[in-house]
Amino acid sequence: MAKIGFVGLGNMGAPMARNLVKAGHQLKVFDLSETAVAGLVAAGATQAATASDAARGVEFVMTMLPAGEHVRAVYRGEGGLIAAADKGTLFIDSSTIDVPSAREAIAAAEAAGMQMIDAPVSGGVGGAEAGTLTFMVGGSDDAFGKAKPLLEKMGKNIFHAGAAGNGQVAKVCNNMILGISMIAVSEAFVLGEKLGLDAQTLFDISSTASGQCWSMTSYCPVPGPVPTSPANRGYAPGFTAAMMLKDLRLAQDASKTARTPTPLGAQAAQLYALMEAAGEENLDFSGVIKLIRGEI
Ligand code: NAD
Repeated sequence: MAKIGFVGLGNMGAPMARNLVKAGHQLKVFDLSETAVAGLVAAGATQAATASDAARGVEFVMTMLPAGEHVRAVYRGEGGLIAAADKGTLFIDSSTIDVPSAREAIAAAEAAGMQMIDAPVSGGVGGAEAGTLTFMVGGSDDAFGKAKPLLEKMGKNIFHAGAAGNGQVAKVCNNMILGISMIAVSEAFVLGEKLGLDAQTLFDISSTASGQCWSMTSYCPVPGPVPTSPANRGYAPGFTAAMMLKDLRLAQDASKTARTPTPLGAQAAQLYALMEAAGEENLDFSGVIKLIRGEI
């Protein structure tokens, strides 16, 4: 069983860390929130005094932090994870962050004699709890091979997307598709409704026709056709509009860096930004249909 340091025990990190403990691994955990740490200690982990303490004397260090700035602050510098860890430690960063920060962190870890992969996830809190996340991994074949058995304790689909940073590339591209397709489905259902076509009928037709997509068949933004979708519970998340906006802004940053136009991605980011401006960013992102209906 592996010795693992785990930093960042929020909505995602806590259930992921619990699944590693359940699988029999020895975890040293740290978070700025004492309550979050106490929850993991109750589940069988050991408390680390600081992030760098979590990185000492372990074979793997996992991080699940909010954004690029947190990852840069936690990994780099004198008090950072890279300076504290033993040579040969393998770092796994599962935070969703910008591609340059991911690539810089991996280069810094490798320069210090460590290994590191970027391994962002999709599947949300439900997937983290059930251990069914999808991992999109960037990094060397060797590091991927070593990390895979651990990732399999937290996820169901583990993809090696290529070199350092490519996990983040896959994540922003996927979520840009999702953010755009949710708006497309929402516009179609509102238009159908205004023209007298009931939502269930449109769903029955489109879900078996060429308009079919995940945003419709698994996460339909109108109540009724998909009973488990957030539309049936007042758009309680799920995956908040704020998180979708974060990912679409990362996609826009990437689009600028790569000098590649993503006009619909840009429009989608603006629509979720309008939800935020209206104070509705904590609704599920499928609540964008309310914006299209003129309800927010
Ligand atoms: P969260 O805000 O619930 O958790 C982040 C945790 O990091 C918090 O507990 C915070 O105290 C801790 N933290 C921040 N700075 C720290 C530091 N310097 N040292 C130690 N701990 C620190 O966020 P989350 O929902 O768990 O998401 C984590 C990452 O996963 C984000 O990048 C997010 O975009 C991504 N993600 C989230 C979801 C989701 O549905 N929540 C889905 C996929 C990906």
